[in-house]
Amino acid sequence: MHSGCDCITNLNMQQITTVFIDIDDTLWWFSRNSEVALETTFRLMGCGNWCKSYDTFHDHYEHFNHELWQLYNQGAVEKEVLEVRRFEQALEASHYCCDDVDELASAMNSCYLNQLVRQEHLMPGALELLQYLHDKGYEINTLSNGFKGVQERKLEAGGMNRYITHVVLSEDCGITKPRRGIYDYAMSLCGAKPEEIVMIGDDPTTDIPGAKNAGWKTIYLNTRNVPCPIADHTVESLLDVKKIL
Ligand SMILES: [Mg+2]
Repeated sequence: MHSGCDCITNLNMQQITTVFIDIDDTLWWFSRNSEVALETTFRLMGCGNWCKSYDTFHDHYEHFNHELWQLYNQGAVEKEVLEVRRFEQALEASHYCCDDVDELASAMNSCYLNQLVRQEHLMPGALELLQYLHDKGYEINTLSNGFKGVQERKLEAGGMNRYITHVVLSEDCGITKPRRGIYDYAMSLCGAKPEEIVMIGDDPTTDIPGAKNAGWKTIYLNTRNVPCPIADHTVESLLDVKKIL
């Protein structure tokens, strides 16, 4: 693992003018905020009346949501399908057996997204890092496969949006990370050359390989103890990025 603290590793960052940062679980604490939103949804929708265990429902939801997001990132499933099907599959796996399952799934998704954007936990150090990068003169942009409207609301948490020049979303260009098109689209917006850009993200299968493939430098935020050997730098906390940039 590169520490990013020595002069040699920092040399290749001297050309960097532009930073792209992933949103979920890099700036905005998605996993924590999502837990609250899901549990609230389960309660508000009265799911406890037919499903004995929230934990069981939660585990099914996480499983199907993860599977569907992998398909979405590959461009193999539409957003509207993902949103409803994750709840539909979790309901069915939890033995919900009324024939309004698609209706309930759709209502749960709306409730969940509504609850999600109200949550404001940021990843530790997020605001401090944004202020630091801003003070050092970097252009700061975000690059995310998350949904329009939802992502913009998340960036309002703690006033993160005041630091961001371009909010680049896969929905705007129709191409998801790690596919090359979204990185080319992002470059066309900011006008920087590949060697002037660094990507910071927590996903070793989307953020980092996609950015490397586009010729960008990469900083991998390893919060789940999953190595990503192709990353130029790996940090375990956002504030460690200050040692690199
Ligand atoms: Mg992420």
